[in-house]
Amino acid sequence: MLLRGTLICLALLAADAGAALRVVTTTTDLQSLTQAVGGAVVEVTSLTTAGQDGEAYQPRPGDVLRLKQAQLVVRVGLDYDLWLDPLLGQVGRAELRRGGAAYVDAATGIPLLEIKASPIAPGGHAHGLGNPHYWLDPLNAETITANILLGLAQVDPAHTHTYERNRQRFLQTLAQRVGEWSKRLQPLQGVALIVYHNSWPYLARRFRLRIVETIEPKPGVPPSPAHLLKLVALMRSQNVRGILKAPTEAEDAPRMLAARAGARVVTLAPSVGATPEAIDYLALFEYNVTALERIIALAP
Ligand SMILES: [Zn+2]
Repeated sequence: MLLRGTLICLALLAADAGAALRVVTTTTDLQSLTQAVGGAVVEVTSLTTAGQDGEAYQPRPGDVLRLKQAQLVVRVGLDYDLWLDPLLGQVGRAELRRGGAAYVDAATGIPLLEIKASPIAPGGHAHGLGNPHYWLDPLNAETITANILLGLAQVDPAHTHTYERNRQRFLQTLAQRVGEWSKRLQPLQGVALIVYHNSWPYLARRFRLRIVETIEPKPGVPPSPAHLLKLVALMRSQNVRGILKAPTEAEDAPRMLAARAGARVVTLAPSVGATPEAIDYLALFEYNVTALERIIALAP
């Protein structure tokens, strides 16, 4: 009887040791980066799924349950995923809230672009705390994964070395790929581009792309006919060759602008999963670089 009890105990311990650490992220990009650091030890899920706009997300009832079971939460921060805070309020676990031991703000330490003193728009994401699309500079993944590593090590110190090793391996691969992507995008330097939503300043700075205007006059605000007319004139005068848009953004305005000003519409993935090819963080950039190369290939 005693032996049987001991065996059951051991089996339970083994099951516990083998159980994955449950991490919940707000976006698929952070899910992919957390998976890269956590490896086989973690089970990561994202509250927003592929193809959803993380800035305009409406939480679902199941999100609270998922957060209740989470051992670590990882968010974009700034005004990108403000919807997380009321959810965490409902979950009621102090360690998962801002400043808690199981809470990671991935933006910590990121040099932000476009910091300006504009208020947050009602119901929207005005980029009022700086542009929040910082994961689109692939080298920002160094800081993002450092934040994730700290969080993982805090809630699961036994695997710290595994996490460190996974992160180093990932960053080595990433650095090599960034070198390749930079070379491939060199011919695009100086070529004027416009974008739909202002998601791309970090990507543009890393690869020296020249984005001259946005189709949305302000983040989250659709363009008026007057703004579109101004854009046509600007595109002609600046010789804009590419219009960058996400799959979830409207097709009509980019298509009209392309036809009137002689540019090409290119669909980019703003997040992992936004296109079928962008299956993880590395594939996201591979997809976007390949899409951007088409602007050069089709140049007159
Ligand atoms: Zn945005």
